[in-house]
Amino acid sequence: MPYKPLPRQSLGFFPTLLTPLPRLTQRLGGPRLFMKRDDQTGLALGGNKVRKLEFLVGEALAQGCDTLVTGGAAQSNHCRQTAAAAAACGLSCHLVLGGEAPDLPEGNLLLDQLCGAVIHWTGEFRKGEKIPDIAESLRAAGRRPYVVPYGGSNTTGAVGFVEAVRELADQLVHRNESITHVVFASSSGGTQAGLTVGKRLFGLDGKLIGIGIDKGVSGDVPFAEHVLELANATAARLGVPEHFSAADVTIREDYTGEGYGVVGELERRAIRMVAQTEGILLDPVYTGRAMGGLIDMVERGDLSAADSVLFWHTGGTPALFPYARDLVER
Ligand SMILES: *Cc1c(COP(=O)(O)O)cnc(C)c1O
Repeated sequence: MPYKPLPRQSLGFFPTLLTPLPRLTQRLGGPRLFMKRDDQTGLALGGNKVRKLEFLVGEALAQGCDTLVTGGAAQSNHCRQTAAAAAACGLSCHLVLGGEAPDLPEGNLLLDQLCGAVIHWTGEFRKGEKIPDIAESLRAAGRRPYVVPYGGSNTTGAVGFVEAVRELADQLVHRNESITHVVFASSSGGTQAGLTVGKRLFGLDGKLIGIGIDKGVSGDVPFAEHVLELANATAARLGVPEHFSAADVTIREDYTGEGYGVVGELERRAIRMVAQTEGILLDPVYTGRAMGGLIDMVERGDLSAADSVLFWHTGGTPALFPYARDLVER
């Protein structure tokens, strides 16, 4: 179905590869497995935020803004991709990061700094709570800041994943493949909201299964409700008469372990298994956990040999290095 075009700034390498995982499939002895390689979206080591940023930065440029402001955890992939997008478009970037400045920046934080981002440290606030304050002080200093929300997850960002489904649906048609499930890490919700809308608009087969990364709620509402609201708002934004209900949003919240960013045996085992069967690197915070969930669902028989499952690799690999201590064999 056609929908209202939004301003878009080209930033990444698309379409990303859709690839079978024959050795992981064989190792698990369950469903046929495929992977969508959004860890290879191209901008400063890639990741899923590039898709959202094409629309967010498109909007920022259309509004004549000169600075991107966003926030997250110190090892935020979203912040790193935003810093790179700003650099690639000649914009300034201010990042509002949780925690304190370390002696030596590692992983994503190193890349933020290499891309020229100005970093503001905000202690316990790792979800961008201080973004409005920083944006206000930039305005007072005569800048034109564009606020990119936490995780890039508003309706504008989610459109990146509506478009991603168009891309995937084309690839599946060309390969004459169909899938029964799409499994991915879900955290600030924009990815899942966009996939939900895209699935409806482009008739994608396959049940969407978000693996919840972060314990509990988003603001005041349960996470699944937040994703549902964002999906409905995104459809409205695009001017398409689609409505979604709770049945359209599946989130497995039983793999959050010790909480956000805490690596356990689930993640360690999944990262090792995929690296050693396919030579593909996952990340410790998001895709390691999501793949751990997928492996568990196969081992429990929730996903069977009759299924064809697509794992959407959303990136995050620069965080492997700062997590070295948690990833070595124990
Ligand atoms: C941000 C991120 C996600 C989650 O995407 P949301 O749209 O925030 O739910 C998953 N994987 C990686 C590597 C990410 O950086």
